[in-house]
Amino acid sequence: MKRVYNFNPGPATLPLEVLQEAQAEFLNFDNSGMSIIEISHRSAPYEKVHNQAKADILSLMGLGDDYDVLFIQGGASLQFAMIPLNFASHEHKGAYVLSGTFSSNAYKEAAILEMGEVAASTKEENFCRVPRQDELKINPDAAYLHVCYNNTIYGTEFHYIPETGKIPLFADMSSDMLSRPVDFKKFSLIYAGVQKNLGPAGVVIVVARKSFIEKSRDTLPTMLRYDTFYKKNSLYNTPPAFSIYIVGKVAAWIKNCGGLTEMARRNSIKAKILYEAIDNSNGFYRGHAEKDSRSFMNVTFRLPTEELEKKFVAEALEKNLSGVKGHRSVGGMRASIYNAMPIEGAEALADFMNQFRKSNV
Ligand code: PMP
Repeated sequence: MKRVYNFNPGPATLPLEVLQEAQAEFLNFDNSGMSIIEISHRSAPYEKVHNQAKADILSLMGLGDDYDVLFIQGGASLQFAMIPLNFASHEHKGAYVLSGTFSSNAYKEAAILEMGEVAASTKEENFCRVPRQDELKINPDAAYLHVCYNNTIYGTEFHYIPETGKIPLFADMSSDMLSRPVDFKKFSLIYAGVQKNLGPAGVVIVVARKSFIEKSRDTLPTMLRYDTFYKKNSLYNTPPAFSIYIVGKVAAWIKNCGGLTEMARRNSIKAKILYEAIDNSNGFYRGHAEKDSRSFMNVTFRLPTEELEKKFVAEALEKNLSGVKGHRSVGGMRASIYNAMPIEGAEALADFMNQFRKSNV
């Protein structure tokens, strides 16, 4: 069976054990004589999957009964609009930290509604770092502060939790959700499209304080309100059962591996291996991110010429190292090393980087 080391940014690599388990039980799920994508979302076997996934996510995050997990469709991109629609107003705008493409897209949606304002931006520096705490200018009347915790395209990540005083903190964690322990209680709302660290595309996990969800704007259409998902256990309409089922399996896999502390241990080893290959290359590889903003999930770097970059991608693929081409807005390479990427994958890529440099200097 051919399996490559898959460095794609999302959809992305998933734990092999999870895929094998899903394959083994596909045709006859929970002895129902049906697959998970054929059974009713109101059936007992499905509800068990749904509720267990929610419980495992909350317990991995160390959150209690004051938080709920919602499963919503429309991608993280729909969250960009739902958040201001539900929680901001023209008087109390959402404050946005612009640290990359997706935080800018989130702000754009709020701006369409005239409910957004910028609290800080590193756009002028081509988003090579996330803003520091002392650069955040948060309006005391803001409805919330929105940050993107890991910038998938630029390869930068927050390594501190912004201090916001009384202003609720919201985070897009699409590309680093459940990759390390974070004091999640400091956040009122966290969301993540699952197709990077947690499962197949099709569902967004929203983890929010219940008292906050209850503030959803009641003049919105039903499906745009967070409290619809909360009151109906995310079963108001047909949920994306297969995505949720795989997310549940990935959450169980993380638990079995040792939880978020173990994920952080593995992820920091992988990141160290790749950043060392960059730092020890005598300038052949140039990292995009400033050192104190470096992402543990997406490692971005350039080579001396675009020709060498093309050659790098082609030769990497010959070595079963797939998906290393960067996003066009940064150029160069991007190695995404989410939870499911084994340490051996990072080692294989670093070995290839060293060899490639020696043959091409
Ligand atoms: N936020 C981040 C951090 C992302 O990486 C992405 C997708 N790459 C998005 C939001 C948009 O997610 P979706 O495609 O699910 O709308």
